[in-house]
Amino acid sequence: MPSTTEIRIPVAVPRRWWFTPVALGLLLAVVGTLLWWFTQQREQHYRHQIEASLNAINQLQIHGIADWRSRRLGDAQALTDDALLAHTVAQWLRPPQAGRGPQELQEQIAQRLRSLVEHLQYSKVALVDPQGRVLLAAPQQDMPALQAGDLAALAEALSTALPQELGLQQVQGQSTTFFSVIAPLFDGEQPLGALWLMVDARSTLYPLLQTWPNNSRSAESLLVRRGRDAVTVLSPLRHRSDAPLSLRLALQDGGDGAEENDTTVALAVAGGRGTLYGRDYRGHDVLATAGAVPGSDWLLISKIDTAEAFSDARWRQWLALGLLASLAVIALGGLFVVWQWRAWQRERMLKQTLQQQMHWLEAAQKAASIGYFLYDRKRRCYQLSRMSADIFGFAPQQSVSLKQWIAVLEPQEREHILQEHEQTLKGLKPLRLQYRIRRASDGAQRWVEAWCEFPEDGAGAGVAMMGTVQDITERKRDEAELQAYRQQLETRVRTDALTQVANRMALDEAIAREWARAQRGGTTLALLMVDIDAFKAFNDHYGHLAGDQCLQAVAGALAGCVARSGDLVARYGGEEFAVLLPGADAAQACAVAQRLLLAVRALDLAHAGAGNAQRRVSISVGVTSVDVQQLCFVLRGRPVAGLGPSWVPGEDCLELLRQADAALYQAKQRGRDQWVLYGPDCDASLSDRTTRPSMDGKP
Ligand code: GH3
Ligand code: MG
Ligand code: MG
Repeated sequence: MPSTTEIRIPVAVPRRWWFTPVALGLLLAVVGTLLWWFTQQREQHYRHQIEASLNAINQLQIHGIADWRSRRLGDAQALTDDALLAHTVAQWLRPPQAGRGPQELQEQIAQRLRSLVEHLQYSKVALVDPQGRVLLAAPQQDMPALQAGDLAALAEALSTALPQELGLQQVQGQSTTFFSVIAPLFDGEQPLGALWLMVDARSTLYPLLQTWPNNSRSAESLLVRRGRDAVTVLSPLRHRSDAPLSLRLALQDGGDGAEENDTTVALAVAGGRGTLYGRDYRGHDVLATAGAVPGSDWLLISKIDTAEAFSDARWRQWLALGLLASLAVIALGGLFVVWQWRAWQRERMLKQTLQQQMHWLEAAQKAASIGYFLYDRKRRCYQLSRMSADIFGFAPQQSVSLKQWIAVLEPQEREHILQEHEQTLKGLKPLRLQYRIRRASDGAQRWVEAWCEFPEDGAGAGVAMMGTVQDITERKRDEAELQAYRQQLETRVRTDALTQVANRMALDEAIAREWARAQRGGTTLALLMVDIDAFKAFNDHYGHLAGDQCLQAVAGALAGCVARSGDLVARYGGEEFAVLLPGADAAQACAVAQRLLLAVRALDLAHAGAGNAQRRVSISVGVTSVDVQQLCFVLRGRPVAGLGPSWVPGEDCLELLRQADAALYQAKQRGRDQWVLYGPDCDASLSDRTTRPSMDGKP
C-alpha cells in the first residue's frame, strides 16, 4: 500500500459579522460606565475634601474670633475687678480732700488708661460717668461720646456689675470700625462709672478673617450680624469697597434699604449649617459654610467661588479622565493592533498554505505532465498554468490567445480540432480529445490529451471552459510499440516456425471465417491438401535436418503458387500442407493443384527413396471445391459420413477437410506425384484408410 500524506488545509472559520462591533460596543460601554463611576467617585471625594477644608477654616476662624472676643471681655472683667483702679477713680471723683490732689489722681488714672492703649492694643480707652459722659480718655483727642444705644449697655453693665460689649461700631466722623466694651467700675456697692474700651477691628479682628491657608482668588469670610429684616455685614468685603457695617443684605424682598439677597448668607442666618451652595452678594455661585461665634450674635460665613473651589479638582478630574481615556484608547489601539496582527498572520498563513498547495499542484502537474487551463470565451484566450504553457511550448506568461493556440495545432488536424472545440463550447458538454501539436518552443511534434469541462453551477459556464491538458507523447509511442509487438505476436502465433507459412491455428481460423463468408455469400470454397511423398524415406536417407530444409523449400514453393488475396498456404502438420482458395471452383482449384505439383517438381530436390522415376521430391494433392450453402443444406439433412452420427453445429467446414483428405488419399492410392479432385469414388476408399497404399502401390 502506498503511504498517503494527509494534507491539512487550515480553514478560516468566518465569524458572525456583528460580533466585533457588539464586543467593541460592550467594551466601550463598560469602560464608559467605569469612567463615569470613577469621575463620580472622584467628584464626591473632592467635594468632601473641599467642604471639609472650608469647614475647618471656618471653625478655626470662629475659634480665633471667639478667643479674640473673650480676651476683650476678659480685659474688661479684669478692669472691673481692679480694686485699686476703682479706688483711685472713686477718690478722684470725690470732692477734694487732704492727701493726693485731684490732679495727681487724674494723672494716675490717665496713666492707667494710656497703658491700656499701649500694652493691650486698645485704640481708645475712656472713663465715663454713669450717665455716659467722658471724664477722661486716652488718647485725649477724638474721643467720641457714647451714643444713645450704648447708654443702655452702660446702664446694664452698672446694674449687673458685668462688662457689656457694644459690638462693632462705626464711630461718627471716623472711618475706623471699633469693637467696644464697657467695664463697670464700683466703689464698693456704689457705681462710679465705666471704662469704655475701644479696639480697632481693622488691625485686630479683621486679620483673623483673612487667615486662609492658600492664595485663593475668591475665598473670603464674612462676619455678619442678623437684624430684624436684614443682615449687616460686619467685616470688610473682599470683592467690594464698601466699608464694614455699610452693607446690609435683605432677608426678605423689599427689606428696608437692604441690598440684594445673598442666598448663602440668608441660608446661614436661617440656621443652615454644614456646606451651603448658593450665590453671594456678587451673584457668583459659591460654596459656603457658616458657624456662630460663641457668646455673640455674630455669624461667620466662609465662602469660596464654586468655580475656583472645583477648578483644581475639575482639572485633576479631567486629567484623570484624560489618563483613563488615554488608557482606554491605548487598550483599544492595542486590541486593534493585536486583531490586525492576528488577521495579518492568518492571511500570511493562508498565503503560505496556498503557495504550498500551488507548489504541490505544480509538482503534481509536472510529475504527471498534466497542466490545467481556463478558456475565456469572451476574451477568446487561454489562461495556462506553468505546466500547460510548458506542454504547448509557450513562455510562462499565463495568457495565450486563441490564435496562438491554433498556430501550434498540427495543420492536417487543425480543422477537426477547431470543430470539436466549437461544438463543445456550443453544447457546454465535456470533451476529451487527443491531438498532435507542433510545440511552439522547438517545433517538436507532441501528442496531447485535453479534458474540457464547464463549471457545474453554470454561473461561469457562459464565460469560461476549464480543463486539463496532458503530454501523452510517450504514452502514444508506447501504445504504438505495444500494438506493433501485438501484431508481431499475432503473426508469430499464426505462423509455422519452421516453414514460415501459416500454421494449423491460422488455417482453422481461416477455414471457419471463409466458410461463414461463403455460406453468407453463396460462393464456393476450395481446399487443397498437400502431402510430400515418401518423406519418411527422405528423412531416413538424408536425415531430419535435410528433411526440415526440404519442408521449408516445399512450403516456399507452395506459397509462391497463390497470389490472390484470401488464398492461404498453411502447414497442416508434419509434412502435410493445406491451401485454402476462397471463391475457387473445382477447375480453378485443380489448376492451382497442378501449379503446386509443377512448383515442387521445379525445386528439383533429390530424393533417393522417391517412388518416381526422376528420384526427386514430389507431392500428392487432394482437391475439393464446394458450394458451401448447398453442402450445408445437404449436411443438415443426413449424418456426416466419417464425422459422427449426426451434424454438429459449427462443424460443417470439417466436411471440406474430409473431402480434401479423401481426395489426397485417392492421389496416394493412384501412385503419388499427382492431384485428385474429390469425387464419390474417393469416399469409397476412405474405409480402407488404415491401409494407405505404400510407395510401390501395395497397401
Ligand atoms: P507417403 O508417401 O504415403 O506420404 O509416405 P510418407 O513416408 O511420406 O508418410 P509417413 O506418414 O509414413 O511419414 C511421414 C514422415 O514425415 C514421418 C516423419 O518423420 C516425417 N516428418 C513429419 N514432420 C517432420 C518434420 O517436421 N521434419 C522432418 N524432417 N520430418 C518430418
Ligand atoms: Mg503424411
Ligand atoms: Mg507423406
